[in-house]
Amino acid sequence: MTPGPLAPGEVRAQFPALAAGLVELDNAATTHKPLAVLDALRRHDVEACANVHRATHRRARAATAAYEGARAAVARFLGAEPKEVVFTRNATEAMNLVARGWAQPRLARGDHVVITALEHHSNLVPWQQVCRRTGAELVVLPCDARGRLPVPATLPERTRIVAATRVSNALGTVVDTTALVALAHARGAAVLLDLAQAAGHLPPDEGSRAADFVALSAHKLYGPTGLGVLRGHAARLAEMEPVSFGGEMVSSVRPEGAEWQDPPLRFEAGTPPIAQAAGLAAAVEFVEGLGLPAIRTHELVLLERLLEGLAGIEGVRVAGPPTAAERSGAVSLTIDGGDVTVAATVLDLAGVAVRAGWHCAQPLLERHLGCGPTLRASVAVYNSDEDVDRFLAALPEAVAASR
Ligand code: PMP
Repeated sequence: MTPGPLAPGEVRAQFPALAAGLVELDNAATTHKPLAVLDALRRHDVEACANVHRATHRRARAATAAYEGARAAVARFLGAEPKEVVFTRNATEAMNLVARGWAQPRLARGDHVVITALEHHSNLVPWQQVCRRTGAELVVLPCDARGRLPVPATLPERTRIVAATRVSNALGTVVDTTALVALAHARGAAVLLDLAQAAGHLPPDEGSRAADFVALSAHKLYGPTGLGVLRGHAARLAEMEPVSFGGEMVSSVRPEGAEWQDPPLRFEAGTPPIAQAAGLAAAVEFVEGLGLPAIRTHELVLLERLLEGLAGIEGVRVAGPPTAAERSGAVSLTIDGGDVTVAATVLDLAGVAVRAGWHCAQPLLERHLGCGPTLRASVAVYNSDEDVDRFLAALPEAVAASR
């Protein structure tokens, strides 16, 4: 069933940060928070400011209930069990945990770690490090000239793990992660999917459910900063070693050694981001309330409008897939003979927020595509046709100023 249109005015009214009329098109970097999330953060700190899993007084019980309730909400959102949800500091930390805690102890010289050309630095640099430490070889699946990722017919024989993004933050490319996960599993390899750009924009695909691990950040999902999620299938989490040690993650400590809690607490050393978890639960409910299919439909219309409008602007070259259907979230462009950072600064003066630079994907833009830094406009559920039109109207002057 095709979802009905969202009422953009009503959605937007839930975001106080947008009340001043800013055109927010830097949503791939972080998203604003709806009232429900702001209320949950404040309510938590007023009514349940306490540490979790320890004291028995009522605020402590409320804090534990909020934190574990958030785990259950995230599990429901991802189609997982609560014990399969690990809270981390951000998506980056979640991916580092898999690289160091699961992959590093299993890798040896001659093994392959497979990533894609589209990866954000946070799903590339940890693998460079792990390969350096273990002698495993890093294999990068290439993209085509339009930043699409053809899923290869086979993977290297000694592939132990495939780490791939579902959506490129720099280009907006949607990867066929269902095919990629099936290919990896046929090779007997584990899969880590980076859902940082997908979780708030695309309905989950089969690959996202089948992947051994998925990582995301709350702050790109209308939730707070300082909180990420690693969802790992129970059997994989049981195999993973903790990389951070201290309170909360131990069940018993003697002077000479310690025993760990079962997952997920084993991977949550120290006081966790409790208020942020309460905020993420509200964010997940917000997204579920609108429905990811409806969000996708709404954003596709905006992406089509962006691509159509950009085609008519002189000197602008769109990087990445030519059609909106192959994208999620972002449209990136370069300016013939122009400096994208200057253009982004001029757009800011016109009240339009975009991002210019490498987007933490320097190898993709510099080596694989050879296009250099880009100016990126990225949409979220609260954007309207008018936002896109204001960006397109302000762009020619920014292009001229950037040369
Ligand atoms: N992966 C992708 C695709 C991203 O867009 C980002 C954030 N730009 C990250 C990972 C890292 O997220 P965080 O900085 O919240 O850890």
